Amino acid sequence: MLVLTKRGLYCPAGDFHIDPSGPVDRAVSTHAHSDHARRGSRTYYAAASGAPLLKARLGKNLPVHPVAYGEPFTLGRVKVSLHPAGHILGSAQVRIEAGREVWVVSGDYKREPDPTCEPFEVVACDVFVTEATFGTPSFSWRKGADLGREIHDWWEANAARGLNSVLLAYSLGKAQRVLGVLAPLARRPVFCHDAAAALNECYRAHGVRLAPWRRLGELGPDERLHGELVLAPQGFLESERASLLGEFKTAFASGWTQRWTRGCDRGFLMSDHADFDDLVRTVRETGARRVYVQHRGHGALVRHLRELGLQAFPDTALAARDPEQFPLFG
Ligand SMILES: [Zn+2]
Ligand SMILES: [Zn+2]
Repeated sequence: MLVLTKRGLYCPAGDFHIDPSGPVDRAVSTHAHSDHARRGSRTYYAAASGAPLLKARLGKNLPVHPVAYGEPFTLGRVKVSLHPAGHILGSAQVRIEAGREVWVVSGDYKREPDPTCEPFEVVACDVFVTEATFGTPSFSWRKGADLGREIHDWWEANAARGLNSVLLAYSLGKAQRVLGVLAPLARRPVFCHDAAAALNECYRAHGVRLAPWRRLGELGPDERLHGELVLAPQGFLESERASLLGEFKTAFASGWTQRWTRGCDRGFLMSDHADFDDLVRTVRETGARRVYVQHRGHGALVRHLRELGLQAFPDTALAARDPEQFPLFG
C-alpha cells in the first residue's frame, strides 16, 4: 500500500504522498508543522480545521482541499479518510483502504487531553504506521497535571515581585495550548510573539477558547512590560525586541525537558506527542497485525512491539524493492 521514497511515504495505488518532503503532485497533509508541511505541491488534502493553518504557514493561495474528519474520498484506486490525531488543531491520521486491507498512518499524535484540538481517535486497521518521537521508555509523561494552574501560579508569583514571565513555546500548537489551558484562569492578556498571532486567529476562528492575548508587535518601541506573561519562540530572548522585558523569569513548555531546561528557571512538561506507554497502548488498540515505526524506528519501540508478538519494523522496511521505480535518495 505504501512505499518509502525520497519524498517520504507514497501510495502508488492512490498516486499521493503523505507529508512529502518536497513538491509532489498530490500531498495528503497530516498537519501544518514545518517538518511535515512543505510548499510546492500541486494539490493538498487536509482536515478542514487544519487547512487554514496550512495556508497561514505556506501561503494563502495554497491549493488545499479541506476534508471533513471521517469523510472518505477516492484517490486513484484507494479510499482515503482523515481522523483526529490529537496533536494540534486539525491534525490527522490518514486511513487508506484498498480491497480488504486497511492501513493507517498516524502522523504526529498524542493521547492526553488538549482543549485546543480534536481528541485522538483510535482507527482499527491491519497495518499501522506510527510516529515515535518519544519512542523509548524513559519518556513518560505525568498525566493529568493541571498545567494551566501551574503556569498561572508561576506568572502570578513573578508578577508579585514585579517580574515578567517569559514562556518559551513553539508558535504552532504549543502556544495555543498554553492559551487554552490558561483560558479559565487568565484575568489579563498574555503577550504573544507575532509568529503565533496569525495562528491564534485560526484557532479563534474555529471556535477554540483561548485566554485573552495581545500581539507583542502592538507595543511601541519604548513601552516596557511589568508582571506580564510573554509567550514566544525560543529565539526571542536573543532578539532586539527582548529589551521590552526588563527583569524577567524564563520557562519552557515542551516534552524535551532534558534539552530545554538548561538556562531556564522553570520547565512545564507539555508534550504534543505520545509517550512510550501511549505509543504501545495505541498500537494495541488499533488491532494492527503489522506496525511500521517512523522517526525512531530502530529503537526500543520496535523491540518492545516484537516482544508483544507483533510484526514490527522501522519505516525503512517500506523502502521499495525496486529502487529505480521509487528511489529512496536523490
Ligand atoms: Zn507535529
Ligand atoms: Zn513531527
